[in-house]
Amino acid sequence: MAGSHDIWVVIEHAGGSIKPVSLEAVQAARLLAGKTGGQVKAALLSSQSGQIADAVACSGVHQVMVVSHPELETYTSLRYLDSLKALIEKSPPAAVLLPATNHGKELAPALAASLGSGLATDCISLDYTPEKGISAQRPVYAGKALSNLEFSQAGPVIITLRPNAFRGDSGSLESNGGISEHSSQFSELAQVLKLKDIVKGGGSLDITEARIVVSGGLGMQGPDNFKLLEELAQVLGGAVGASRPVVDNGWRDYSSQVGQTGRTVGPDLYIACGISGAVQHLAGMSSSKCIVAINKDANAPIFDVADYGIVGDVLQILPLLTQEFRRALQS
Ligand SMILES: Cc1cc2nc3c(=O)[nH]c(=O)nc-3n(C[C@H](O)[C@H](O)[C@H](O)COP(=O)(O)OP(=O)(O)OC[C@H]3O[C@@H](n4cnc5c(N)ncnc54)[C@H](O)[C@@H]3O)c2cc1C
Repeated sequence: MAGSHDIWVVIEHAGGSIKPVSLEAVQAARLLAGKTGGQVKAALLSSQSGQIADAVACSGVHQVMVVSHPELETYTSLRYLDSLKALIEKSPPAAVLLPATNHGKELAPALAASLGSGLATDCISLDYTPEKGISAQRPVYAGKALSNLEFSQAGPVIITLRPNAFRGDSGSLESNGGISEHSSQFSELAQVLKLKDIVKGGGSLDITEARIVVSGGLGMQGPDNFKLLEELAQVLGGAVGASRPVVDNGWRDYSSQVGQTGRTVGPDLYIACGISGAVQHLAGMSSSKCIVAINKDANAPIFDVADYGIVGDVLQILPLLTQEFRRALQS
């Protein structure tokens, strides 16, 4: 591989904290840099460097490159794109990793197009050999097959990572990474957009970040019954997800939709309640570590992927489960 062997991570942060998906990306970068022989560097775009840069420096990276500007307080695609492009063009790395979040999904293709770089999205594994360079693996056909991707040209290549695919302690280096400051450069176009306000959606815990997701399907029979899922999620410290028809019916917000056209989750525990297990739903949750299904139909396809299955009426079973979990966790 000609050029740099370094692997960069674009850090996502909110409320002064690094998002867990970015720590996973650091973990992926460390694994890849271990093979390329380069360093792991974090690109942090923020309104101020300070505390968050120190936290990133302790997350297992060799260097934090901070671009600070008041207009970078919150994510806007064009300003982030301009800042990252300028940073990359100054000293191109071998690869730039971003979490496949809403921001990453928007930013990565724009970055690849503006740099003329290769792009691999929603990847679950990365590799490097001197002969082939960097390669990536991603699920296709709703998770039924995996595709292996190689890049026909050397870096920088742009890669988004499926949340929860690279979990693990990114650890720390012997000494914390250094912090370097870089100036922001916004094009005229990027100045056109002014962010006026951000209105927070419902649900406190993001389903892609939750270790436990309790999801409801049409078998919940109506929006009011989702309070049963909220109670269970609250006892377990989890988040509430939903199938697509639930969202289409307006019972839950789109941000809670799990599946091919929703969000991909991979929690430690996924409890599917009144969900049939259509392939489009499985595409978003089948990589969960432990799957529990509750369905009144013993032949529902969800039981094919479930580690534990309960056949019965979800409206009767959920209160009992919540009660038992509450008792067990309290003792
Ligand atoms: C292009 C495309 C993209 C799609 N993307 C998505 C996606 O991202 N996410 C997604 O979820 N779907 C998606 N779908 C829709 C998908 O095909 C299914 O229609 C959907 O997942 C079914 O949702 P469900 O399991 O809630 O409903 P159903 O399939 O109707 O299943 C309801 C289940 O509840 C059970 N049930 C009923 N009453 C009870 C009770 N009292 N107690 C226990 N169990 C009960 C039934 O036995 C049944 O198994 C997509 C479809 C297409 C064509």
